[in-house]
Amino acid sequence: MILTPDAERVRTPFRLPLFTTQRFSMPTYVTTPIYYVNAMPHLGHAYTTIVTDAYSRFRRLCGDDVRFQTGTDEHGEKIAEAAAKAGEAPQAYVDRIAAAFRDTWPLLAVQPDTIIRTTDAAHIKTVQDILQQVYDRGDIYFSEYSGLYCKGCERFLTEKELVDGKCPDHLVEPKAIAEQNYFFRMSKYQDWLIDHIKSNPDFITPERYRNEVLSFLSEPLEDLCISRPTSRLTWGIPLPFDANFVTYVWFDALINYLTGIGYPNDPDFRHYWAVAEHVIAKDILKPHAIYWPTMLRAMELEPYERLHVHGYWNVDATKMSKSLGNVVRPKELVDAYGVDTVRYFVLREMSFGLDSSFSSDAILARHNSDLANDLGNLFSRSLTMIDKYAQGAIPERESVFQFTPDDRELMSAVSAMVVQYRENMDGFRFHKALQAVWEVIGLLNRYIVTNAPWELAKNPRQGDRLRTVLWLLAEALWKIAVVLGPVMPATAQKMADALGMGNEFAGTVIDDALNWGVIPAGTEIAKGTQLFPRLEKLANPVSASVPNPAKPAQQEAAAALGEGLISFDDFKTVELRVAEIVAAEKVAKSDRLLKLTVKAPEERTIVAGIAQHYSPEVLIGLRVIIVANMKPAKLMGIPSQGMILAAKEQRADGTEKLVLTTVAGPVAAGSRVA
Ligand SMILES: [Zn+2]
Repeated sequence: MILTPDAERVRTPFRLPLFTTQRFSMPTYVTTPIYYVNAMPHLGHAYTTIVTDAYSRFRRLCGDDVRFQTGTDEHGEKIAEAAAKAGEAPQAYVDRIAAAFRDTWPLLAVQPDTIIRTTDAAHIKTVQDILQQVYDRGDIYFSEYSGLYCKGCERFLTEKELVDGKCPDHLVEPKAIAEQNYFFRMSKYQDWLIDHIKSNPDFITPERYRNEVLSFLSEPLEDLCISRPTSRLTWGIPLPFDANFVTYVWFDALINYLTGIGYPNDPDFRHYWAVAEHVIAKDILKPHAIYWPTMLRAMELEPYERLHVHGYWNVDATKMSKSLGNVVRPKELVDAYGVDTVRYFVLREMSFGLDSSFSSDAILARHNSDLANDLGNLFSRSLTMIDKYAQGAIPERESVFQFTPDDRELMSAVSAMVVQYRENMDGFRFHKALQAVWEVIGLLNRYIVTNAPWELAKNPRQGDRLRTVLWLLAEALWKIAVVLGPVMPATAQKMADALGMGNEFAGTVIDDALNWGVIPAGTEIAKGTQLFPRLEKLANPVSASVPNPAKPAQQEAAAALGEGLISFDDFKTVELRVAEIVAAEKVAKSDRLLKLTVKAPEERTIVAGIAQHYSPEVLIGLRVIIVANMKPAKLMGIPSQGMILAAKEQRADGTEKLVLTTVAGPVAAGSRVA
């Protein structure tokens, strides 16, 4: 490779609204939750951790000084139980599962700076110091409590939280327990917390979760029981002021965010805590948005800066669960699709904050269309042309005054993409950041067609023009490599290598992607780099759905029954589910249609022709049966995903009566009807 140390670098030759501030060496501290070791890592864990990793790589690309922390949560009743079930001592059990988590991260190209365990001696000491400190200040008191205890949640539930007398998450009736325990005066900080959330709009995002927390806080907050008697549980951190109790697992776990940066004395603590950002899934919103800030307040510390809350991955439109046998394991995914495809897929497919669906078909489609086709073909095509028409080296461009409007438009679009990418990555809108990149990939593919380098190559007088087109393609591809680095690190490096820029790639910052003329003329490229081979549909999809209950004998019997009948397999192609109606409204300009929002279990919109039979308000909370795998359709411009089943009665006067089908007993939204 030829290095030209003083290679001419040109700014985009016209003004763009670029950056007003530069954030060099600002600290960034970002964490995943510490994962509870009562289960092996699955797609949900992988997602949270990939998001956090991509964000921390993005911050590094912005020049920040980043600390990225993950870890495992290893105390509590459920762990003690899981260990007993596995026939292991708790410590041996947690060592084994914690190692499984630790071993998963390199497979996903996740590079945390700190991996903390709540059984670490330093963490245990920090938790005890904090407990003593809060106790000494009078914010922990001893009292008798009788309440409804859910073992699954490992906490007392309030009456309000119950649904039909049961824990909504575990679907069991909580046990009435009366016992003496220690309590944290959480209620004391309620007004402060409401104030803090209201005056800091970015404290909890996306906004729907901020609203959820504020709505919860509109009722009086109860104090938090933070101990468990050793008569019931010993696998926990002993309270420093009473050896008959261990610490409630959340009070222990949340403190990891401080331990990992050396609270209270390490300079790293002062440096990073002020900018702490936590990434979590919505199931642990309450501990992070309510317990944790009030605990910090009681410790006289500032709260964290931002809490980023994401939704759930449903697998083949069903909530992922062990009992359904549709748990997706990170290793299987990486083995089947490659790590960069997995990272790209989860970041591109999910709108951060909302639920999303995983399926083998969806990841395959993204791989073949976005990666192999759009990006991969563009890349190999461009390099082949540089090889063929410019002797395998980055050509010298013609004078900027010769640039065509088409060139300028493309350069402007590339620079605008970098700006949009940056804003969206910063705001945790990863899918939008990637959308912006793929728009430019589309423009580049069109630019090749319009400018047809193979035609230019036929005419020697077009030599300058040909070199400019190839130069522009190489420069744009390098910028794409830069912005894809946080999402697909190996692919980005491969692109930079092929463009002859591999050696200095690790030190690139995002501002470099706003310069043109970064690759020195004469730099040798490596053609023949295939970024993503096309993949065929797998014989055994990773997301094995509900196991097929039909036995061959049954199918034969059904076939033997003859015409007009359908086989069990035919019936199975119709996916019926229980759906809960959560919102209903009239469709403007239609007297027949209602727009319904249902949960099954993910939220979807269904437009139903029932307006003459039901008024919207009576439908809320009703559990109906839907066809969940209907092809989406648009009705009065509203996308409808599914169909609601209703019985139709023909009246004597020729009119019809419609009655919605419902279920006879309480059953969770999303349950399959078969
Ligand atoms: Zn529960």
